[in-house]
Amino acid sequence: MGLKSDFPNNSEYPGSETISYTDIYISFIESKMKKFPGIFNDVIGPVMRGPSSSHTAASWRIARTGLDILNEPLQKALVEFDGDGAWAPNYREQGTTMGFDGGLSGLEITDERMKSAASYALQKEIIIEYQVSSFPTDHANTVRLTLWGISEKKVQIIAVSLGGGSFEIRAVNGFPVQLNGDLYGLMIFSGNKTDISDELKNMIPPGVDFSSEQHGAVIKYEFKSSYPFPPEVMTRLRNKPVIDDIAVINPIMPVIAGRQTDMPFTSIPSLIDYARASDADLGELGLTYEKCISGNSEEELNAKMKEIILIIHKSIDTGLKGTHYTDRILRQQSHLIGNAEKEGKIWESVVNRIIENVSALMESKSAMEVIVAAPTAGSCGTVGGSLKAISEKMASSENELIKAYFAAGIVGAYFARGSGFSAEEHGCQVECGAASGMAAAGIVQLMGGTARQAIDAASMAIQNMIGLVCDPVADRVEVPCLGKNISAAVNAWASAIMAISGYDAVIPLDQVIQTVSNVGKTMPSCVKCTGKGGLAITEAALNIKNRLT
Ligand code: SF4
Repeated sequence: MGLKSDFPNNSEYPGSETISYTDIYISFIESKMKKFPGIFNDVIGPVMRGPSSSHTAASWRIARTGLDILNEPLQKALVEFDGDGAWAPNYREQGTTMGFDGGLSGLEITDERMKSAASYALQKEIIIEYQVSSFPTDHANTVRLTLWGISEKKVQIIAVSLGGGSFEIRAVNGFPVQLNGDLYGLMIFSGNKTDISDELKNMIPPGVDFSSEQHGAVIKYEFKSSYPFPPEVMTRLRNKPVIDDIAVINPIMPVIAGRQTDMPFTSIPSLIDYARASDADLGELGLTYEKCISGNSEEELNAKMKEIILIIHKSIDTGLKGTHYTDRILRQQSHLIGNAEKEGKIWESVVNRIIENVSALMESKSAMEVIVAAPTAGSCGTVGGSLKAISEKMASSENELIKAYFAAGIVGAYFARGSGFSAEEHGCQVECGAASGMAAAGIVQLMGGTARQAIDAASMAIQNMIGLVCDPVADRVEVPCLGKNISAAVNAWASAIMAISGYDAVIPLDQVIQTVSNVGKTMPSCVKCTGKGGLAITEAALNIKNRLT
């Protein structure tokens, strides 16, 4: 029987009217091979509450995907961190518990109740325990999550947080897997039964990735797809007596993978060549990049970016109005710049507006208000704070600001392809350093500069941040994070001015990003978000930690 004819009601499969299964299949395979980071999936976002995207957003996403795999209401969870990993010393302070408590109790990450997610889990009578354990890992941010459902069904997951809210589930009940939250999935378990791989393969159309594996007496069958599985397929699978359990795994990332089209440029040098040949600016290239990655239309992507910008501007307004949160080091300070101007202590300037905006965003973040991680929650002030200030100074249009965010986004995407955004692996140079490069490119875009100038501005900005350590005081993402965000934003402004004026960046951006990775590898772990070095172990910091604990 032919594959297509064996698939019930093909027309139900979203996209089947315009895309052939072969196209979907090719696109899916290509996406797996290329693995280009997306601007919305990996750089600008998630929209979230919490102090840290690698702690709060990634743990929330792991928890929500874990619930899908468990496939029945949760009764109890054990969350374990490896004692030698970066999460063990600060999982409470940096919001990992907030992410797991909220995710496991079914809250959306922007829900106001995330602020008291532990109490919400208790109200729902879900028991969540945390433990520092010892288990083999190859990543600093690894978690072992064991879930028990109401029927005592047990699922054990090994997952890692990759920085900026990205994550990967790497094992389920001892089976190696690769789940990044950007595809629809089916995970099927069958114990002590005949292998039905061939039968299952024939039920599913091309375009769906299929794998099977046996572990002891249990066989795991896994499907991944860029489109939801049609109800008819689900019914046929559920009627198979040899299948014990079918977990439907829903994507949790904003953009679904596997729908991409060919990109006209890949490396940074090829992007610059393409920009020159097509006379495109970096904002246009950022939009083209995301269009190719996502398969979405320009209208959809511009609307998505507009929504992101509105959220960022609302976070700035919230911060400036004044925010409160008990477990916090810094009081509100963002209003002090305006006060000092009114009192004639300082004169008005665009730098003042940058400092004010960045402070407001960081204060919103520290008060667990909704923010956009860009590229991370810890560095959320830099891009949003500087682009708002400069766009207002220049009276930029909404479309110009959207383009500036796409220019910032594509720089972040190249950064994500390099070192990524995990301070636990590379220090703050990949948070505030990356944000500074992104902001510099966005500012050049706002000022009408070329793609080459925007890339050079990013290069100069990141060069100035190489080696920046991660040493948060009392494990809160506030000090020195606020100052680092402000410096990154002002550095972005200075780098943009230099690039527009024709200064020579000397080192190309791709080589700067590679250097960030190389330097990150040589940094000691005590200055990689472990709270064991840098400013975190000064007398003043230890006093603050004692006071807050
Ligand atoms: S020092 Fe930088 S990387 Fe570390 S928590 Fe603060 S903002 Fe994040």
